[in-house]
Amino acid sequence: MTPPPPSSPAPTADGSTASTARSAALFARASGVIPGGVNSPVRAFSSVGGTPRFITSAQGCRMTDADGTTYIDLISSWGPMILGHAHPTVVEAVQRAATTGLSFGAPTEAEIELAEEIIGRVAPVERVRLVNSGTEATMSAVRLARGFTGRTKIIKFAGCYHGHVDALLADAGSGVATLGLPTSPGVTGAQAADTLVVPYNDLAAVEAAFAENPDTVACVITEAAAGNMGAIAPAPGFNAGLKELTARNGALLIVDEVMTGFRVSPSGWFGIDGVAGDLYTFGKVMSGGLPAAAFGGRADIMGHLAPAGPVYQAGTLSGNPVAVAAGLATLRTADADVYAALDANSHRLGDLITDALTAAGVGHRVQYAANMVSVFFTSTPEVAITDYAAVKNSETWRFAPFFHALLARGVYPPPSAFEAWFVSAALDEDAFGVLADAMPAAAAAAAAATSREELH
Ligand code: PLP
Repeated sequence: MTPPPPSSPAPTADGSTASTARSAALFARASGVIPGGVNSPVRAFSSVGGTPRFITSAQGCRMTDADGTTYIDLISSWGPMILGHAHPTVVEAVQRAATTGLSFGAPTEAEIELAEEIIGRVAPVERVRLVNSGTEATMSAVRLARGFTGRTKIIKFAGCYHGHVDALLADAGSGVATLGLPTSPGVTGAQAADTLVVPYNDLAAVEAAFAENPDTVACVITEAAAGNMGAIAPAPGFNAGLKELTARNGALLIVDEVMTGFRVSPSGWFGIDGVAGDLYTFGKVMSGGLPAAAFGGRADIMGHLAPAGPVYQAGTLSGNPVAVAAGLATLRTADADVYAALDANSHRLGDLITDALTAAGVGHRVQYAANMVSVFFTSTPEVAITDYAAVKNSETWRFAPFFHALLARGVYPPPSAFEAWFVSAALDEDAFGVLADAMPAAAAAAAAATSREELH
């Protein structure tokens, strides 16, 4: 077996590692000033328990926490860091941009370059506007769809997450799923009433929703491939069916590529299935880890945006020069070798997981949506997990002990059974050695789990 890098933790007999005292102290301090101690819920480890690790630095595929423990990172900042952390080309681009000004509130040439980069990769995107987060991108796309069609209702899929937009929180994935929330207090009845939620991968349900709401549905919004209830690829023909149903019913198809965009291929999921949405949303990879995102699509629809048209949308920091520099550098550095490495690494990870769980006799499915990967614990592994109901019915209680056994051995997976795992191209042989060494104990922990551990 490959020896772990020197800074990796040495598990003790019970699988626990080096101290987490400093992270625990920081979490206690954070909880006094930040709700729940974190600035985004899943970071709090609520569903797996234990001490959230406070990160001090990251390089390549490794993150180091405040106690000096190094982890192989299988989150990649929830997607963006396809090149690994602190890639020299990206860091250099950011430094260069920062020295020439942090924000102008006026247009720059680099914004055009990033827009051209996106439009050049995703053919149905003819115009694009930069925003600051994926949430802002989906919120703006939905507003534009409503403004363009003059209709109010939207159709979304259970378990899909599109950011914390009021109308899109119903039956959402990601942290909303992790915390088991049907929606969120603070979302008004009116906002929720215009959202129709149907099962993912169920075209008949979409057709029925259109039939029950004639001439009132502005758009269908879907993750290009679901990643926020774990990785669930669209069934063959599902995205094409959405395209056909929206077109037939005078509604728009919004393809949310915030997660898949520029990760699963140079042109995102569009590069995989070629289905042309009317509007798209992007984030994560296109900003290289800094806060930027985008929405775009058909020129006639995007022409309705202010100042060209009447649908208002704006942002003080939109098109921020430092974020744009990071995004451009990331996209331009991600060559064919990077995408080949992402694909290979995700399958190598999935194989390690499945080999260990099979050896330990744990029923499971490792599922992929291109190079996004997830493990679902299930007593019927021959049955594909295709929607949120199936995810919720799976043995999610096996996840916390599995997670903690990995964490204790220097591997940092997503701290939730409802998330995809994100590899980077920077995973190296040493890293895979750490993963290979950690998996058997994690599989044993999953095997030993009982459903009571759900309350852990
Ligand atoms: N859409 C999808 C598919 C996402 O996965 C996310 C975040 O994970 C968002 C939208 C929201 O993006 P942000 O967290 O940048 O607001």
